[in-house]
Amino acid sequence: MEVDWSVSYRKGGVNRGYLRFTNPTLSEMRWPVVDVTGSRDGPRLCVMAGLHIDEVSSIQAAVSLPDHIDVAALAGTVSIIPIVNVPAKFSHTGLVPMDGKNLHWVFPGRSDGTFTEALADALLNEWMAGSEAVIDLHGGDIGEAQRPFVLFQKTADEVLNSGAEALARGFNPDYVMQLDLDHMNDIGRCCTALGARGRIGIVTERGDNGLLDWDAVNWHVAGVLNACRLLGLLEGGTATADKSAVLIDKYTFLRSTADGLVYHDTHPGDRVVRGQRIATLRDEFQQPIDEILAPDDGYIIWRTTMLFARSGSWIGALGRPA
Ligand SMILES: [Zn+2]
Repeated sequence: MEVDWSVSYRKGGVNRGYLRFTNPTLSEMRWPVVDVTGSRDGPRLCVMAGLHIDEVSSIQAAVSLPDHIDVAALAGTVSIIPIVNVPAKFSHTGLVPMDGKNLHWVFPGRSDGTFTEALADALLNEWMAGSEAVIDLHGGDIGEAQRPFVLFQKTADEVLNSGAEALARGFNPDYVMQLDLDHMNDIGRCCTALGARGRIGIVTERGDNGLLDWDAVNWHVAGVLNACRLLGLLEGGTATADKSAVLIDKYTFLRSTADGLVYHDTHPGDRVVRGQRIATLRDEFQQPIDEILAPDDGYIIWRTTMLFARSGSWIGALGRPA
């Protein structure tokens, strides 16, 4: 990993530049990076956004984050990659154009893999190396409406779990979602890869429909600043965090059972019971095809806002309270 700080550099300040990874699969590309470095030593916190390029509120939060950090009061470094899926910047896709993979679902990646797999590996093993925690900002892709939530990977280490949960609650979300131990060896989200390595990572989710929503931007920023306080990069308590977030211990994707037009009966935040109708599928003549029923008791965390759904595709997710 090499960083060209030619955009701006000063010790104890905001340093802007471009990062390159030495892996030959990645070496033609560069990523914007901002390191906000305090005048005193302290932990390193990594913050990234734009794994999904249409989740714009979380990207804007990462772009504007340096303006919200009091450098004089900071101990340590907040390293920010505000746009991770750089090659998709001028398109509307959840995928990395080089290989058509979804970076969110390929961690820990592989150094000898495709572009996206190599990028996951480089982020995890180079950029995130030595960090106290990693915050991966997401939320509200085109065609998705949701309630604010934060995910972390539950591990066998209770100290690690409570550290991750505290960071998650610092965002003041509606739901804190702990991914159960069964997921630990999955190829998937960065928080799982970090948890499997005894490290703290969280994925934050707020936004809707690919729109720039300043409430969502400010929510992400406030949550990162609370993380800085919890980790000791900034002084002071997390005054804005409350304890009301519902802890979720099972996250279930809801899938369409056929190709069709989907009509939702429920909205994000609704509590549903097992067997309750969540949506109806109809054909182009409005004839009913099927009903999608809740597989469990829980809350609708997010749902699609698109009219059409393919058989097997996600139309939302259900979270079961712990
Ligand atoms: Zn996302």
